[in-house]
Amino acid sequence: MNCLFCRIVSGEIPAKKIFEDHDSIAFADINPQAPTHFLVIPKKHIDSLALATEADKEMLGHLTLVATDLAKKSLPKGFRIVINSGPEGGQTVDHLHLHVLGGRAMHWPPG
Ligand code: AMP
Ligand code: ZN
Repeated sequence: MNCLFCRIVSGEIPAKKIFEDHDSIAFADINPQAPTHFLVIPKKHIDSLALATEADKEMLGHLTLVATDLAKKSLPKGFRIVINSGPEGGQTVDHLHLHVLGGRAMHWPPG
């Protein structure tokens, strides 16, 4: 298995885990872009949002709710959830992940 995030799921690569359930884990981003920056990923590998199908809608809903629940607890003033998809979307790790960012005012439009 040569996927970085699958290795984090298996425990082969350490991460600062903040949440785990049957289908997902959340861990701190190693290169934070805001005072709070963590990632929520499915345990089951899927390359990107662009490859998601109808069969993934429960998983996508679950990840969104996990990210939102965690964000609401630590970021009462607001937060941003981002999914980068594909090279021009800024995706650098090919295992679907939601970024949760907060702790400062976010800019719009994003870069
Ligand atoms: P993206 O560019 O949207 O694919 O996001 C990938 C994110 O993974 C980046 O924000 C990286 O900082 C983060 N990242 C890369 N390697 C690790 C790691 N070992 N542990 C935690 N986060 C990581
Ligand atoms: Zn993976």
